[in-house]
Amino acid sequence: MVSSTRRPAASREAAATPSPGLLPWLADPLAQALATQRAHALLVHGPQGVGQFHFALGLAQAWLCETPAERRDRGLACGHCAACHLVDERSHPDLRVVVPELLRAEAGLEAEEAGSDDDGRKRKPSREIKVDQIRAALDFAELTAGRAAHKVLLLYPAEAINAVAANALLKTLEEPGALRFVLASGAAQQLLPTLRSRCQAIALPMPAREAALAWLQAQGVSDAEVLLDAAGGQPQAALALQSAGIDAAACRLFPQRVAQRDAAALSGWPLPLLVDALARLCHDRALLGLGLRPRFFPHGELRAADPQAMARQAEALRRHARHAEHPFSAALAVEALLIAAAD
Ligand SMILES: [Zn+2]
Repeated sequence: MVSSTRRPAASREAAATPSPGLLPWLADPLAQALATQRAHALLVHGPQGVGQFHFALGLAQAWLCETPAERRDRGLACGHCAACHLVDERSHPDLRVVVPELLRAEAGLEAEEAGSDDDGRKRKPSREIKVDQIRAALDFAELTAGRAAHKVLLLYPAEAINAVAANALLKTLEEPGALRFVLASGAAQQLLPTLRSRCQAIALPMPAREAALAWLQAQGVSDAEVLLDAAGGQPQAALALQSAGIDAAACRLFPQRVAQRDAAALSGWPLPLLVDALARLCHDRALLGLGLRPRFFPHGELRAADPQAMARQAEALRRHARHAEHPFSAALAVEALLIAAAD
């Protein structure tokens, strides 16, 4: 999840950290990576929602920063030189950020004109990184003049690179010349092995709870603990819940509403988030059935359940989830999901 941390220029100037756009829990692992990683192709991976994209962008910004290294904190980007500003604006001539169409706005890129399908209907923005995007990025690296000694290609999420696009990438990954790659992924196990084996991996840890809560509070999230738990400890995912209109009160009431099959009360949940939350509820009820503390909804009214029954229910939910993005009525989909989640 790439929730935006870009701020207006004024507040960026005023921020106290050396690289103000950086999520606070990423500074230490980023400094460590800058000190130790020399490979031309890096793969940043970790649980969804801890900031893979921002980490990758932080690496690119540090590589391109024009402030002398001795005047920067541990090699991190200074955050205020011309190059850093260009990276913040996504207009640095030596950086190409490649994301699926669907994620352009979240990645801070201008939206592209949506294409049309053969019948002239507006096409849905793609969830994949396609071969045309890879070819354009490689052309950019080869053909355009820049201001730095090397160019950087940032690809996110790397698991969205489809097989054809990956093939177009392989040769350059092996002989990158003056090009540096940073691939970021929240689901590295889904990554094509041919890509994974050509990159040096950097694993991002889950942020410390205190740091995550402080950040969420700074983003204006109230009752941050409830949202952070519901999001499995992933702060960006917690913020995404709030941005989708799911606040702490909705998370507290969630187990109860599911038990009552209150489809009307749950109709405001975007379906993918509802599917995730229902699966997490199964997990929690199984934990409770084993006498353990629930992980995601410890603040709600939960009923214990048999772990095996919950495993079956979670599987039924996964089957329904495959259809959850179909354009049929969202209300019907919520009903169907609640039936799948019923005991
Ligand atoms: Zn700089």
